Amino acid sequence: MAAGTLPPAWRVRAAVRRRCRGSAPDPAPQTPAGLESLVGVVTDTGRGDPIVGMLAAMPQPPSAASSRDEPVIRERGDACPGALRLHAADDGFLARVRLPGGLLTVRQASALALAADRFGDGHLELTSRGNVQLRGLADGCGAGLAELLDGAGLLPAPSHERVRNIVATPLSGLDGSDRPDVLARALEFDRLLCASPWAAALSGRFLFAFDDGRGDVAALGPDVTVLGRPGGRALVRLGRAADAVELAGRDAPWAALTAARYFLDAAAEAGTQAWRISELPAEHALDITEFGRRLGIAGIAATPVGAVEWPYAAPPRPSGAGGHDRATLCVLPPLGRLGSAQWRLLAQVADEGSGQLRVTPWRSVVLPGAGGDGAARIERAGLVVTPDSPWESVTACTGRPGCAKSRADVRADARAVAEVARGPLPVHWSGCERRCGHPRGTAWVDLVATGSGYRLAAPGRPVREDVRPSELAAALADARTDPDVVKK
Ligand code: SF4
Repeated sequence: MAAGTLPPAWRVRAAVRRRCRGSAPDPAPQTPAGLESLVGVVTDTGRGDPIVGMLAAMPQPPSAASSRDEPVIRERGDACPGALRLHAADDGFLARVRLPGGLLTVRQASALALAADRFGDGHLELTSRGNVQLRGLADGCGAGLAELLDGAGLLPAPSHERVRNIVATPLSGLDGSDRPDVLARALEFDRLLCASPWAAALSGRFLFAFDDGRGDVAALGPDVTVLGRPGGRALVRLGRAADAVELAGRDAPWAALTAARYFLDAAAEAGTQAWRISELPAEHALDITEFGRRLGIAGIAATPVGAVEWPYAAPPRPSGAGGHDRATLCVLPPLGRLGSAQWRLLAQVADEGSGQLRVTPWRSVVLPGAGGDGAARIERAGLVVTPDSPWESVTACTGRPGCAKSRADVRADARAVAEVARGPLPVHWSGCERRCGHPRGTAWVDLVATGSGYRLAAPGRPVREDVRPSELAAALADARTDPDVVKK
């Protein structure tokens, strides 16, 4: 069918696809009317016990309904850092580089190591959305950093760099299952997102998830979730809705784009500064029927599905070859932080394998096709490649000295007790009540610095307001051994 005979929506798809491939320039204006019609714009314990050891291997499923997350009313635009919008921290400037699907080539990983050495403090941090942060950046390094990242293909759309928050199942296509390879779909979606000028208005917190059907990244509380289904189908869910739409998997990237536009329209109508779907006022909450109508306008056949039973899968555990499959490594850097030499080693091992690195939202790195002695070399470099490490399920915010709000050097405190304070429940260390980077749900131990110790909260136990440093190891080990969890 010639382009001129296509229905309007499909003509727009073809135009956007051409633009994504970098072929003939799209004559469409900044906010193409065709694109607006495409998305249906209106107005716009552990310690040796085998049971506990097993539980430590299984981070608990989040309970979104009773999450510690509080309802939020936004009064300003978000100030999320990016690669071009640097955040001034106490240890210098911070840049966050978005990695859709967590995917990196060896060349891109090498560029990040060079950026960390040339402009920053020589370290890289993994975030809870599968991105990478550089810290301790010198004042005035922005142009040089941008040029370096752009040269490695890490800044394909400068106007959209902060909205490319796309997580995908890290083991997709690697574990011999017949689930769809969602990483390709996540990348297709990224291209669509970057080719849609209006999408730059999304907040830096709006999250898209492409889950291959196991329920790992779908459990991260995304704003738009694509869940693979048997037979080439997919479910698309908006926020935490109980219902969803089912459609052909190939249409899922377009459906996710339609969902993003629907959210922006609803936020504009509500006149709020909502960053996320859950922040829309009740009277402007997204509706599955209206979503289906918009999909219809875009030429996507979708069927509403009520009360979906969402699967849950625990994150991949650290493992050397012989874990998930005989050639896939899952590497856990303690507290999600690596030196540039450690990072370069991962790139080197990746280069000996598939040439790909996958940064996970659980602050680990999957290296597909990495056999040989890669695991042994990585372990010798101080990174974790075996399960049951004291570093599994231990996370921390930046704390001192990087964050001015912090009342403690939380990472140093976490390191001091990591070996003895083991247990099945995840623990998150925070320097203040913001609890940056905390796990989802409530099944985790919450430590917040008080200035003289830590406030300790664990599921089903009374809060301990000020645990002193000398008591911390024993108190934390006890709190992580939740008897109710151990019984399950
Ligand atoms: S939780 Fe508080 S101390 Fe820690 S990084 Fe966030 S703002 Fe800083």
